[in-house]
Amino acid sequence: MKIVTTLSDLRADRQLLSGSVGFVPTMGFLHSGHISLVEAAKNECAGVVASIFVNPTQFGPNEDLANYPRDLPHDLALLETAGVDLVWTPTVEVMYPTGFQTWVQVEKLTQRLEGEVRPGHFRGVTTVVAKLFNAVGPDRAYFGQKDAQQAAVVRRMTRDLDFPVEIVVCPTLREPDGLAMSSRNTYLNSEQRRAATILFRALSAAKSAYDSGERGAEKLRELVSAAVAAEPLAKLQYVSCSDYDSLEELVSVSGKAMISMAVFMGKTRLIDNFVIGG
Ligand code: AMP
Repeated sequence: MKIVTTLSDLRADRQLLSGSVGFVPTMGFLHSGHISLVEAAKNECAGVVASIFVNPTQFGPNEDLANYPRDLPHDLALLETAGVDLVWTPTVEVMYPTGFQTWVQVEKLTQRLEGEVRPGHFRGVTTVVAKLFNAVGPDRAYFGQKDAQQAAVVRRMTRDLDFPVEIVVCPTLREPDGLAMSSRNTYLNSEQRRAATILFRALSAAKSAYDSGERGAEKLRELVSAAVAAEPLAKLQYVSCSDYDSLEELVSVSGKAMISMAVFMGKTRLIDNFVIGG
């Protein structure tokens, strides 16, 4: 496995890969969820490139950029075992050279949900993903359903800017008790970690109501809110029942939809979602 930092080294080593290339962008502190994306890429592509970059422009001023967990040696060991060919670990200076002032912004899809409570977040995401795509030139890029709005926004950007990249969205990997794997789970103390299963339990309550015939979106949102309200350590930031593609809030569920939520456990913010219908 080759590890490169500069753009010119990345381009030189990328050229040596023949056949289709799968790309897995990450912010590091890797877990099995990330590795499942690598495995999907390995199955479908001749070569696999991964990137590790904690992208400062997608963090808000009061968010966790400075404390974001990092463990490069462990990440590289996991990627090597998973069979990645090339890892790009650019520095902030490589990605955002002095004088940087060009941004990529998806307009409508970013106004709600995560975009509403994290202003500027998706502008940072789409700008860095566009730069990563330009540099790596992948045939397919792999994203997790865990960050459902991110996947929808990246898919829109890819279509709108004509990137010749197929966006592949992979299922959310979970801990045995249902908590979605996330680098941010490491912030939780043992009490909060135990209580954090509330996201999965709340989404499961809404899903089983849907499976029993409930189609009222407000009712499904209420089931999630009520479940979270019963967990004293959790504070609901938002709950949504939206169309899967447009992310528009629904009145009733008829096609493919998504129930999504954000919860604070102390200072730690966790997100999760279930897809229903369709
Ligand atoms: P991050 O390092 O958090 O930026 O995540 C990098 C990629 O891994 C994104 O496409 C995420 O959606 C994906 N990812 C994160 N957690 C999971 C998970 N539990 N299951 C599947 N994919 C995930």
